[in-house]
Amino acid sequence: MAGGHTTVIQRVLERRAHKPPTSEEGTTATVAVMVRVLPPPKALLLFEEAPMRTLIAERVRPDLLDCDVVADASEALRRFAADFRPVVLTDNLEFIRKVRARPAQRAPYILYVSELDDSQEREAGLTAGADDCVGRRVSEREFEARVGAAKRIAELEAALRVTLAENRKLSATDDLTRVASRRFFGKHFPREVERAARYGRALSLILCDIDNFKKINDTLGHAAGDDILRQFGPRLQQQLRKGVDWVARIGGEEFAIVMPETAYQAGVAVARKLRAAVAGAAFKAVNKPLQVTASFGLCGLERVPVGEPRLPERILKVADAALYRSKNDGRNRVTAAALKTPAT
Ligand code: GH3
Ligand code: MG
Ligand code: MG
Repeated sequence: MAGGHTTVIQRVLERRAHKPPTSEEGTTATVAVMVRVLPPPKALLLFEEAPMRTLIAERVRPDLLDCDVVADASEALRRFAADFRPVVLTDNLEFIRKVRARPAQRAPYILYVSELDDSQEREAGLTAGADDCVGRRVSEREFEARVGAAKRIAELEAALRVTLAENRKLSATDDLTRVASRRFFGKHFPREVERAARYGRALSLILCDIDNFKKINDTLGHAAGDDILRQFGPRLQQQLRKGVDWVARIGGEEFAIVMPETAYQAGVAVARKLRAAVAGAAFKAVNKPLQVTASFGLCGLERVPVGEPRLPERILKVADAALYRSKNDGRNRVTAAALKTPAT
């Protein structure tokens, strides 16, 4: 492969993908190493009464939890929604119920700190949704042991999330949509281009981005958005030639369709077919029918030239520009462009 293809494609892809922070991801890290290098988990402490607040805040050592201490329940909810904390310490049962009622992807470990250390209090705490309960007057050592358990669970969750993200990154298939992954695309699209150039064949690339997808998430929830994505990949795939054309998810709601042996005009016909297949029948979002559209951008080449520098990313850029034309012109449409090279 000519130098630089993968890296530049990777850069274009990086821009598109909604990437979680990668700072703590090391490819060879084991769970134990990951946990050791993680900073103490963030915790939210909500205690409305000052003496209790001071007492608990003083008892949690900074090497155990990185505490944000709050006196007001609605302020605590607001902070929690803005910035997830894997650990919550509170004496407020209502707050625990509210945190548990959130339709969130991540659930914190909640330690209920009760006034009294009796079974009634423990039962109330656990029923509200706490993971553990501790009386405010327990010994220093017991308190620390309970906070230590919260810390371990939070750290394991963090390590698990990093590992999952890493596995996903290494995978050739995207979990959610069952089409090829971004990584696969970054590696194999340049190979397709190279192969087409070698034999002087045609090649088309379509980029496709679901329209107003953020609104679906915002109005119907993230689960509804995931439902759409799950059906979206296979719906594209169904319209394509089996074993020849392939689809990759290259960003959150962005897909690439690679069509070897497909010249500009034929590529446009496929893009139109794909657009119609998306808009033509409702998707199911949390069991309700939902009309979805997508915008398409195509770059088609009659004959992929040999020896053209940076061809894969140039094709990608042309298709990307065409896609943005489709967005600007009102969405739910196809824009096509040919790549100008000296050879064509
Ligand atoms: P446009 O028509 O201009 O493309 O608007 P849009 O709302 O589709 O575009 P935008 O890029 O603003 O929003 C994309 C959204 O896709 C934002 C992000 O939260 C969401 N998203 C990305 N990945 C996933 C995912 O895996 N699941 C869900 N449910 N949403 C996702
Ligand atoms: Mg997008
Ligand atoms: Mg979009």
